[in-house]
Amino acid sequence: MGEFELIRRHFTRPVRRAALGVGDDCALLSPAPGMQLAISSDMLLEGRHFLAGTDPERLGHKALAVNLSDLAACGARPLAFTLALALPRADEAWLAAFARGLFALADAHGCELIGGDTTQGPLNICITVFGELPQGDALKRSGARPGDDLWVSGAPGQARLALGALRGEWHLSEGALPALQARLDAPSPRVALGLALRGLANSAIDISDGLLGDLQHVLDASRAGAVVWADDAANLIAVGADPQSAAGQFDAEILTQPDPALLRQCALAGGDDYELLFTAAPARRTAVLEAGRRCATRLTRIGQIQAEPGLRLLDARGQPLAGDFASFDHFA
Ligand code: ADP
Ligand code: MG
Repeated sequence: MGEFELIRRHFTRPVRRAALGVGDDCALLSPAPGMQLAISSDMLLEGRHFLAGTDPERLGHKALAVNLSDLAACGARPLAFTLALALPRADEAWLAAFARGLFALADAHGCELIGGDTTQGPLNICITVFGELPQGDALKRSGARPGDDLWVSGAPGQARLALGALRGEWHLSEGALPALQARLDAPSPRVALGLALRGLANSAIDISDGLLGDLQHVLDASRAGAVVWADDAANLIAVGADPQSAAGQFDAEILTQPDPALLRQCALAGGDDYELLFTAAPARRTAVLEAGRRCATRLTRIGQIQAEPGLRLLDARGQPLAGDFASFDHFA
């Protein structure tokens, strides 16, 4: 199977919304009048972003999910994406499974593959997504205001907890791994929530590198500080992301050795969550909770934006909490 046969067989489908898709020098998109394009790229490298031997179907899902998460954080509706792929070899079974995971998520969000590039090399997946939103409506990092509630979706920290268990850093209680590993391998981008937060949230970001580190980006962009109720965030790990489903909820201890400090570390500094962290005026609390219910996504208030710069962490008893909750940084 040569390069062009590979593209034809696995990555070419009839276009639906795009004016031109795979097969020419450029794809063509026609944004509706009054709409802006939201564009974002994310790269996944074997050994850096995922373990060698990761199930290709889940990888196809995740490669697109992390990109859709960026659209969600801006409140954009997914339109289309491109796929730049470096592959060590043209493995038919691997490609079929990868494409299955990729297109299942793409179809669930009405997001079509319109082009890309394919080359031989170490496994590397780079996707660029295109979304649309009404001119001027994008949720940005810079809009947080003192007094805003700080909200988080889902259960940040579950992905990190799974990763550590897979690496043998700690042991999970019987039966906890499958649900947690699904959060790591197949995150659900909060696209519907992002759309629901347009006009409601003052600022938003998706959590890819760790809650506090990503919060700091919002604080820097908004020139503000925050108080964070660390244990309210950490407790979510056991409660689960979806209030309407038992999946990912844990009645017993998640860890064989209960360790509140470790759960805090995972919740506040664990990466790969793809949850939304956003701020909204306290007057919008009921509307925010209603948006979460409509999207079947748990939304939790975990702090407040303050005028004074800096991050202040409090534990369950309201006592200041020290600790190093540095986020993931590729070059640190
Ligand atoms: P060019 O030589 O113009 O760069 P290519 O030969 O690389 O084009 O690709 C041929 C067509 O296939 C283009 O339309 C390109 O967008 C598309 N394409 C290449 N690789 C992929 C891929 N992995 N997924 C989707 N489309 C792809
Ligand atoms: Mg060309």
